[in-house]
Amino acid sequence: MASKRRTDSKSGRRRTTRPAEPAFARRPSGSVLTNPEAAQDYEKLAEQYPDEREELLLEAADSWNDAGEHEQAIALYERLLTPEEGACTEPDLVDAYRITALWDAGRDEEATAGAADFRRRHPRHAGAWTFLAEAFEAQHETETAAEWYTAGVTHALGAGSAVTVDAVEANVQSYDVETLLTGRHRVRRLLGEPHDDWDDVADALHERRASALLGRVRPLDELHDPLRLKRLEEHGPDLLEQELGAALEHGSPENPAARAGLRATCVLYWPRDEFAGLLERWPEATEAYGDDHAEHLRKVERTLREISDDGGTQLAVGRATVQDLEAYATAHGGSPDAPGTRSAYAAELARTGRAEAWPPPRNGPCWCDSGRKYKKCCGNPAVA
Ligand SMILES: [Zn+2]
Ligand SMILES: [Zn+2]
Repeated sequence: MASKRRTDSKSGRRRTTRPAEPAFARRPSGSVLTNPEAAQDYEKLAEQYPDEREELLLEAADSWNDAGEHEQAIALYERLLTPEEGACTEPDLVDAYRITALWDAGRDEEATAGAADFRRRHPRHAGAWTFLAEAFEAQHETETAAEWYTAGVTHALGAGSAVTVDAVEANVQSYDVETLLTGRHRVRRLLGEPHDDWDDVADALHERRASALLGRVRPLDELHDPLRLKRLEEHGPDLLEQELGAALEHGSPENPAARAGLRATCVLYWPRDEFAGLLERWPEATEAYGDDHAEHLRKVERTLREISDDGGTQLAVGRATVQDLEAYATAHGGSPDAPGTRSAYAAELARTGRAEAWPPPRNGPCWCDSGRKYKKCCGNPAVA
């Protein structure tokens, strides 16, 4: 399996508690660990801290994969899946990691057998389904990928459950179910399948999130246009530059704000206290921004990754405050909760230097101000 989107995976493990940074992560800056060294350090730490064993061994496996040492990673996944070695909290997800590592190691037959076993177990873990569906998609097994996305939705929601926007949002795995529906929408456009009810749900979920965070929506069908996806694969992020160039040429000169807004895409982020203030001021905002702050963080990161995967460059996180938004709305006219106002406010944050470029460096502080490294916080591909 050659060109997988493994590191781009937007799904997978979601951790509720995280161990403190291991001691070795606090080495003076400049001494950067190579992946095999990091992997060995994580393995040692796993013995020292049995309570965090699963998390640390997964980190070790990640580092082995990054180093191209897939056999070492597979051995760790197998250890995690051996009951005598201790309990594993998310065996289906670890198995999904194991299967893709088998592909990476060139052990295709075992990977295929592993995938068949996975399906026979009928797991409900939406992140594990996504991980494998994305792997099929990345190796251009588009029909198989479509089937896996569909099966993933069915298993995550429960067979016979209606697939509606409300059902997805009410589900404990709502975030990962949306990822499955979005992936399904994407590969079905590639296959030239008709737009079905589940695709409508994917569109509606996408629109709801994007309008809340960006104030404007680029419809999923435009993003998933097969010709566009193909050009993106061939030309990479240059494509978006070209599109923006075209948009600027055709943009109205009397609306410089809108034109500036096109150059940098700024996503509104509500820090914890402000988020509480926002919900107090507009309780209906939960609909758009999420029920709790953790969900809001995931939505912001996901929206940025989506734009980035789609070829977007010059992305930024704008720190919003309720007072500031209200002042902006008063000064410029318009309602503070209108998507257009939010979009203009986000563009203003970017223009006035109150936005931070995204993504931050992997080892730099996270954009959310948690004090953690980006790669271990919102930038952990397995968290968002
Ligand atoms: Zn659609
Ligand atoms: Zn973070």
